[in-house]
Order: sequence, then structure tokens, then C-alpha cells
Amino acid sequence: MGVPVASPGGSAAGGPADGAADAVGFAELVRLLAGRGVVVLSGAGLSTESGIPDYRGETGSRRRGTPMTYQEFTGGEAARRRYWARSHVGWRAIARAEPNAGHRAVEQLRRSGHVSAVITQNVDGLHRAAGTRTAVELHGGLHRVVCLTCRRTGSRAELDRRLELLNPGFRDGSARANPDGDAELPQELVEGFRIAPCPECGGVLKPDVVFFGESVPKPRVQRCFELVDSAQALVVLGSSLTVMSGLRFVRYAARAGTPVVIVNRGATRGDELAVARIDLPLGEALTEAVRRVRGGAGPA
Ligand SMILES: [Zn+2]
Repeated sequence: MGVPVASPGGSAAGGPADGAADAVGFAELVRLLAGRGVVVLSGAGLSTESGIPDYRGETGSRRRGTPMTYQEFTGGEAARRRYWARSHVGWRAIARAEPNAGHRAVEQLRRSGHVSAVITQNVDGLHRAAGTRTAVELHGGLHRVVCLTCRRTGSRAELDRRLELLNPGFRDGSARANPDGDAELPQELVEGFRIAPCPECGGVLKPDVVFFGESVPKPRVQRCFELVDSAQALVVLGSSLTVMSGLRFVRYAARAGTPVVIVNRGATRGDELAVARIDLPLGEALTEAVRRVRGGAGPA
């Protein structure tokens, strides 16, 4: 599928077809990027082209299994054993994933000053892997673990080596990964899994991500509001804005009169707040946006 070419005053006005709407929206995206100071809010849809499934999906298909809540995780060792067993299998898919054309385009736009900041709802670390070290990871990152007792953070890769030594041959995997690094496993396998405590204090280790039932740390939320405050425009990339933690920034921008553009496969909860909606594959659309922003807006 090609990125539509906007045709000002031309065929874009010819009808309500999606292609025409996308062309108008895409032209608006390029215009806002050219104006600089754009803040990006990204979601799972940006990482699907890296092979990380979006459990809300283009078609609204549901995640396999229910994500563990913070209350379950902290409530007992059986739940934590289940979490880490499944995560030990699912982590490989996350660890092996590489940034795609969409992440690279965002980083190019950041380096050229067209994008001023990136906020991501993703925990896969792929913005950072693409070079966007300043990306604010709203829901944390799977590449870190945190001790719930002494609050020290550590590397997930290091924990992974410890778990592998404690559970040799555990992951031989037909299991399928969820975007939070979780995977489906039979109960008998889970019960035999050995979890690793904090190497410093023996406390409970948790991935440094915000679980369902847990709040995003206030300073991080505040930082995001400040970034949105300073934005010339807010561009949502690959999020259906299902959860309030992301949707609130879209509402906040819209209330302040800051234009919001949403690039996503399928409808989102923020659609009525957006000045433009683009339903296109992200890698292709963003690569084309970079080309047009750099080369000028193209022929009139
Ligand atoms: Zn500790």
C-alpha cells in the first residue's frame, strides 16, 4: 500500500473515501512536523512491525490471557512464580526485537528538531534502541528490574542469566509472546520454576514496568504534562488510546488548543479530539513523512 499523495484543491475533495481522508491527514502531519516542536506519544502499534504483537490489535483482537495485576504480583509467591516463568519464556521475543522503520523515522525527526520529545506507552525499549535515549517510558521498561524492598534497579539481561542457571532448559518454546513479554505456559511447568531474589537484599524483584492496578509514578506523569505543554503539536503513533494513562495527554493537548494528529490502524478513543486521523502502516507513513519534511512539502 502506498502513502497517498495529497492533492490540494484536487481529487482529495472528490469524495469521502478513506484514501482521500488519509491524504489530507498526511499533509497535515507533514505540515505540523515542518513547524517543529512536535511531541510524539507512541503505543504498541509502532512496535508491531518489529514482531511484537499488539494485543489490542488493528481488529481489536484480545490479548491471550489476562495480564497480572500489581496486587496479584505483590500478593503472593505463587503469582510471582507464574509471572516470572511466563516472562522468562516471553522475554526472548522482546530481547531479540529490533527497532523498525517507524522508530528510526521518529529518531531522524528528533535529531532534525522536528520532534522535540517522545513519550512511549511501550515497555519494549525500542525507541532507545533506535537512538532515542530521551524517550520517556511512561509505563517503564522491561530491560530493567526493580527490588520492591530496597528499590535498587538492575538489568533484566543479568536477571535472565540467573534465571537460566536456576532453570536450565526451561524455555524450549512453543509459547507465544505478548507485548509485555508474557507468554502462555502449562501450569505444571510454572510450578517447577525457580524465581530469583534481589541479589542485594533478598527482596522481591519486579520488572520495572507499571502493572495493571498500579499508577504511573507522579514525577513521570508531571514530566509528560510539561512536554505536552511545550508541544506545538501532539502526534499519536500506533495507539488506540484505550488506557487513560495515554488518553489524558491527548485530552490535555486538545483542551489547550494544541493540534493532535493520530496515526493508527483502526479507530481510537481520541479520534474526536484530533485535527487529523491517518490509518496507514506506521513504518511506511513515517518514512515518507521524513522524506517530505526534509525535502520540503512536495509539489503544490
Ligand atoms: Zn533489594
